[in-house]
Amino acid sequence: LASKLPDVGTSIFSVMSQLATECGAINLAQGFPDYDPPQVLTDALARHAQTPGHHQYAPMPGLPRLRALISEKTALTYGVSAPNPDTEITVTSGATEALYAVLAAVVRPGDEVIVLEPAYDLYGPAIRLQGGVPVYVPLALPDFLPDWERVAAAISPRTRLIMVNSPHNPSGAVLTDDDLNALADLLAPTEAFVLSDEVYEHMVFDGQQHRSVLQHPELAARGFVLSSFGKTYHATGWKVGYCIAPPLLTAEVRRVHQFLTFAVSTPTQHALADVLANADHYQSLPGFYQQKRDLFGELMRATRFELLPSPGSYFQLARYQAIAPNEDDVTFARRLTQEAGVAVVPMSAFYHDGTDHGLVRFCFAKKDETLRAAAERLRNL
Ligand code: PMP
Ligand code: GLN
Repeated sequence: LASKLPDVGTSIFSVMSQLATECGAINLAQGFPDYDPPQVLTDALARHAQTPGHHQYAPMPGLPRLRALISEKTALTYGVSAPNPDTEITVTSGATEALYAVLAAVVRPGDEVIVLEPAYDLYGPAIRLQGGVPVYVPLALPDFLPDWERVAAAISPRTRLIMVNSPHNPSGAVLTDDDLNALADLLAPTEAFVLSDEVYEHMVFDGQQHRSVLQHPELAARGFVLSSFGKTYHATGWKVGYCIAPPLLTAEVRRVHQFLTFAVSTPTQHALADVLANADHYQSLPGFYQQKRDLFGELMRATRFELLPSPGSYFQLARYQAIAPNEDDVTFARRLTQEAGVAVVPMSAFYHDGTDHGLVRFCFAKKDETLRAAAERLRNL
């Protein structure tokens, strides 16, 4: 079989998690919490799992009750007028399906899609599977914020879409109002769409606020905004997310969604709807994750890793040159997993061409005791 993605191997997240399991390493590689969702949510799931009639297909765009609550949450969180649940919100099988549905809906063969690198590993391959051409623009170290002039230089008459991700995986960078204004100015003369991956929307630290594309009217008018209950409720295994977009764009997403998965698992949607009205959980997340970032940062001071700033997300980049001066990041990440018993992700996995900056990514969405145990293993390197 002639592969459609001949250069693509198994996702680095699966590779590192498997290696971590084989080696008995502490897994700070793949991004997922080692704690469970809030008990009100798991109780709600248990209840709905026992409720007759909650086991068949949900409505294609998502349970109306859940979409109404997503709308209210969005208005409350971003001070915007509530998106219309009937025409602007689609519940998807994680942000992953939403990404894929948006790309399939808008990218035609030969269309260019601007991707700021480093980027989440599915972006490039998912674009190419639509026949699209990813146009990569590097984000500059150490803050990983876009150089909008470079982005402007990448725009062409073929540009169909630009993908942005804030807070950013893997760097934690957070876009500001100025960034969104610059993006809007760049796009004003074009007909390009914006795909805004905001799955880490509730993980922004040090008093900074997440700025959503939904808060910028010109961008919102051409934007697909994605979030993930997996991140917000410590439930990555539930695979429930959503896409908010204006009615005409939502209609196109749904054309794909109905033939991709048709609908999302029913009991999980009911359970999420039961808890979403209470803002306490997600409003506590910035503090919850800032404490973890700060604890991990403090613990890592006893090691020879040099941490980069992480203003958002649950990821932390680190240089390892003091430990292994000339080692490439893939070799180092493997060795760290096998020899030190701590699994990390090499940042080169987030570049289409494997650009190696000598950085590895730690996930700090872990119990404090897990972070302590990991740092203890890293101290003697
Ligand atoms: N986008 C980014 C930037 C992510 O880090 C992730 C989670 N790994 C996703 C999308 C996918 O989210 P989900 O698990 O809801 O499919
Ligand atoms: N988003 C997670 C990460 O960046 C992984 C998701 C996955 O394994 N597909 O680690």
